[in-house]
Amino acid sequence: MSTKKIEVIVPPREPHFVGDGFRVHNFIPSAYRLDMHRMDPFIMLDYNSRFYFPPSEKPLGVGVHPHRGFETVTIAYKGRVAHHDSAGGGGIIGEGDVQWMTAASGVLHKEYHEETFSKEGGEFQMVQLWVNLPAKFKMSQPKYQAISNQEMGIVELENNSGNVEIIAGEYQGVKGPANTFTSISMFNVKLNENGIAVFSFPAHFNTALLVVEGEIQVNEDGIVPVDHFVLFENEGEQVKITGLKNSIVLVLSGEPINEPIAAHGPFVMNTRQELVEAFQDFQNGKFGYLAD
Ligand code: MN
Repeated sequence: MSTKKIEVIVPPREPHFVGDGFRVHNFIPSAYRLDMHRMDPFIMLDYNSRFYFPPSEKPLGVGVHPHRGFETVTIAYKGRVAHHDSAGGGGIIGEGDVQWMTAASGVLHKEYHEETFSKEGGEFQMVQLWVNLPAKFKMSQPKYQAISNQEMGIVELENNSGNVEIIAGEYQGVKGPANTFTSISMFNVKLNENGIAVFSFPAHFNTALLVVEGEIQVNEDGIVPVDHFVLFENEGEQVKITGLKNSIVLVLSGEPINEPIAAHGPFVMNTRQELVEAFQDFQNGKFGYLAD
């Protein structure tokens, strides 16, 4: 098996606020060549690097807004976030948990710091990904998967290297709990200092990683500090990562959908006409109702 080489190591961009509760560095679709096609089916990645939010009586976050045509996946590393949507999905996720919301034909949702976390304040660190849906599933029923940390697949690595939590996909025969529409691997890799993990993904799958904590070496060459993103070339299969410190690494790989993308704001469809319809349906209340 040949090595999947690093295409580029991307430093975090200047952060901006999404609503008043998420202070994010956008990697997809704005950094380097990471447009909505380059990491297909991962079409958006916002990363709230570790940030202290002071106590707030009013929970910070993002108010009611629509989505259609894709899935939003939120991974909590620090802090707690509450979610409600117009399809009846909702819940609270905390450190190590994931919420996987399939907006598909359309939902309204809101995303806030959980009430107690908000009142007490604290360290907050999250990733939000948008995972695209193939055209044939874009108008399917919305659904919601709350994935607690205990439900994730886990593989203990050899030689006290650490472990791999499997959110989606499969690693060393262990499957993750997320139901996905296309072939996706999403792992949280917890490496001890000098710990090693090796992964193999098909060459044509779009593959990347984000160093959420610590510092790693990728293959034999790349040194990747915390909060940096690594995009891999679409050649070779194997990636080796070594913890230079105790580290947490989000590993992403997915089979490209390879369909046209028409995106505007919270809607990601295949054609302009479908975007127009999405706006009309939203205006006409077809996404349901959700109180502020
Ligand atoms: Mn949203």
